[in-house]
Amino acid sequence: MGIIVTIAREKKTVAFMIKLYCKNKHQKRGLCADCVQLANYAESRLDKCILGRNKPKCADCHIHCYAAPMRDKIRDVMRFSGPRMAIRHPLLSMWHLMTAPVRQKRIA
Ligand SMILES: [Zn+2]
Repeated sequence: MGIIVTIAREKKTVAFMIKLYCKNKHQKRGLCADCVQLANYAESRLDKCILGRNKPKCADCHIHCYAAPMRDKIRDVMRFSGPRMAIRHPLLSMWHLMTAPVRQKRIA
């Protein structure tokens, strides 16, 4: 029931984190082309994730559907923006699961 809301919030969180990262790391106004691509990619992955599953086994889902280069990028974003977001966005723990390999079994 809450999965749609969860995913919507997750999208916002990711978008914000990428924005924060780009602003600090790439020194651009708005998002640079790379970060736009990453944001779009992350969003499309989230869409695919809920379409395929009704249960939030998201760590599992992301690990399988993020292509390696995108995973590296999003990992950098998480590393940078994560600590600044963690307090306000507890859902971030999901992303930590995603970036930490082979921990998905815990929520199975
Ligand atoms: Zn950027």
